Amino acid sequence: MKLAIAGAGVAGSYLGNRLQEDGHQIEVFESSRKESHWPVCAWGASKNMLETFSKDAGLNFDNYVLHRGKKLRMDLPDEKIEYLDLRGLVTYDKYQWEQDLCQRLSVNYGYHCNPESDFLSNFDYVIDCTGFHRSLLPRSPQDFIIPSYEFLVENVSGIDEFYVIGYKGARGYFWFFPLGDGRGYMGAGDIDRKYYGISEFFKKNPNAKILRKIGRPIRLSPPKRMLPFHNDNIIGVGESIGCVFPMLGEGIIPSLICCNIFIDVLNRDSTFDAGLYEKRVLKKFGYYDDVYRIVRLKMDGKLNSVKHFKLLMSMYRNMKREEKRFGFGIDFEQMNRLLKAL
Ligand SMILES: Cc1cc2nc3c(=O)[nH]c(=O)nc-3n(C[C@H](O)[C@H](O)[C@H](O)COP(=O)(O)OP(=O)(O)OC[C@H]3O[C@@H](n4cnc5c(N)ncnc54)[C@H](O)[C@@H]3O)c2cc1C
Repeated sequence: MKLAIAGAGVAGSYLGNRLQEDGHQIEVFESSRKESHWPVCAWGASKNMLETFSKDAGLNFDNYVLHRGKKLRMDLPDEKIEYLDLRGLVTYDKYQWEQDLCQRLSVNYGYHCNPESDFLSNFDYVIDCTGFHRSLLPRSPQDFIIPSYEFLVENVSGIDEFYVIGYKGARGYFWFFPLGDGRGYMGAGDIDRKYYGISEFFKKNPNAKILRKIGRPIRLSPPKRMLPFHNDNIIGVGESIGCVFPMLGEGIIPSLICCNIFIDVLNRDSTFDAGLYEKRVLKKFGYYDDVYRIVRLKMDGKLNSVKHFKLLMSMYRNMKREEKRFGFGIDFEQMNRLLKAL
């Protein structure tokens, strides 16, 4: 098929690579200019899954790993501290990974796609991989986003592990994700836009040098709340249709899982079965809606461990089942402690 992909982020670059290998004719349109294109993200994800995605796309993930995490320290309200046992969480060179996926693709930089873009009518299907922007699909009334921004910093001393500060009411969190050699991503997502931790970080690290300041909101509403996934010949994949784990704002692996569902459905038939795609995405990410409800209840101060026991069990059971995909140990007692402390 002749396919246009809008957006050369994690979903667009992976999808383009895989679909071209499968014999489809691919053209990618990316709104940013080549010189300034940069993956807005803290580059943290589980290597257990990225190894497989990379292999399927002809890449060796070991070449991209920057830091292998051992323990994640989490500072919580009332001076409580928890440590997460890391089992595969890494930071990796997401910029290079995406560039390498695009190496043999035709990528048109500086093309901002919108539903009126004439050139899109030349394709059998147009895939909306514009992430948070969802530029080609109708808005969803249930969309929910959290403002966030971050700095790429170097010359950081005294911290070389994953570190987060959880805000009261789970209204966001501060992060430092190490990239090796004293570099890291430091930033925060915060519903209240206070971003606690950022200025404290600079006070503790006066020699830290800012290399980049980047940001955009992160979508927390899951696929169930981001319908429709398609409109005429336009189909959404990745964060554009809510493939982000709502508790963490983590979207790399969910977006790639969504790509694999898309590839599987596309390659089944001579026309794309949009109904089947929708059904499979909703099934795969079904429990994200329970997690989202927990997050929103917590943010509104309404989460009750007795009343919402079923929701909490759904989150625990599903996360435990997918432990490898998260890259850290999932423990029921610890999850309860964390939710109580926040
Ligand atoms: C500050 C921050 C930190 C994050 N950290 C992590 C993390 O550590 N781990 C994790 O798993 N997730 C993280 N996320 C979430 C994760 O980055 C996204 O969920 C994931 O990248 C989504 O992939 P995507 O391909 O759907 O969209 P994106 O990767 O956002 O790619 C979308 C692409 O589309 C382009 N585009 C936008 N509009 C148009 C248009 N109209 N026409 C053409 N091109 C367009 C954009 O320039 C971009 O290149 C973070 C997000 C933010 C904002």
